[in-house]
Amino acid sequence: MIKHVFFDLDNTLWDHRANAKLTLEQLFDQYTIGQEYSLRFDDFHKEYFTINENLWAQIRDGEIDKDHLRKHRFYDTFLFFGVDNMELAQKFEEGFLDQIIEFNVLVEGAKELLNYLRTKGYTLHILSNGFMEVTNRKCIESGIDTFFTTIISADEINVRKPQREIFEYALQRANANPSESVFIGDDWIADIEGALAFGMRAVFFDVFNDGFTAPNVNSVHKLAEIRKLL
Ligand SMILES: [Mg+2]
Repeated sequence: MIKHVFFDLDNTLWDHRANAKLTLEQLFDQYTIGQEYSLRFDDFHKEYFTINENLWAQIRDGEIDKDHLRKHRFYDTFLFFGVDNMELAQKFEEGFLDQIIEFNVLVEGAKELLNYLRTKGYTLHILSNGFMEVTNRKCIESGIDTFFTTIISADEINVRKPQREIFEYALQRANANPSESVFIGDDWIADIEGALAFGMRAVFFDVFNDGFTAPNVNSVHKLAEIRKLL
C-alpha cells in the first residue's frame, strides 16, 4: 500500500538542535562572550533556543520572513541579557550559518531507519522547510543523501509546509500519489496537519512529548519505533 516515505529533515533526521548547540558553543568561545559579558553558555543557549523556535513558528505561520529571523534571533538573545549590539548579533548570524555545516550529528537511529526502509523497498524523499542552499549540503555532509530519490526545499517554489502547494509540488516531483505516501516529521502543524490535509498518512515524531493526536496518525518518540509501522 505505502510505497513512498517522505521525511522532514531538521530535527527529524538531521539533529539541528545538537548541531546548533555545538556551533553556538564555538562562536561563544570565538568571541569570548563568557568573559566579555559575564554570561554562561548554558543560559545563553537556553534563551537562544526559545527565541529561535518562536521565530521559526512565526515564519511557518507567515507572520515574518527569514530576513527578520536572521536579523533578530541573536540580537534578541543578546538583548535578553542586556547586551544591545546589532553588530555582534550579525557576526553571530553569519558565523552561525558558516560554521553549522562543520557539524553533522544525526538524530539517534536515523541511518539505521533509512537503511531499514531502503531494504524494505520504500522510495525515500526529503521535504524540508529549511533554506534551499543548505538542505542539500546537510544531506551530503551527514552522509544520507544517497538514500533519497528527491530532496526538496520549500524555498524552490517559495511556499512552505503546511501549505497544500508544497506537498503537491513534492509528490509531483517524486511521482507519487498521496494514498501511497506517508510523511514523517516533528512539527505537528507543518508536517502532520499539512500531510493529512493533502491526503497522506502521517507519523508524528514527538520528540518533546507534545502529545498532539489525530485519527490515523501514529506518534513515535524514537525513530526506531517507526520500524513497527512500515
Ligand atoms: Mg523539523
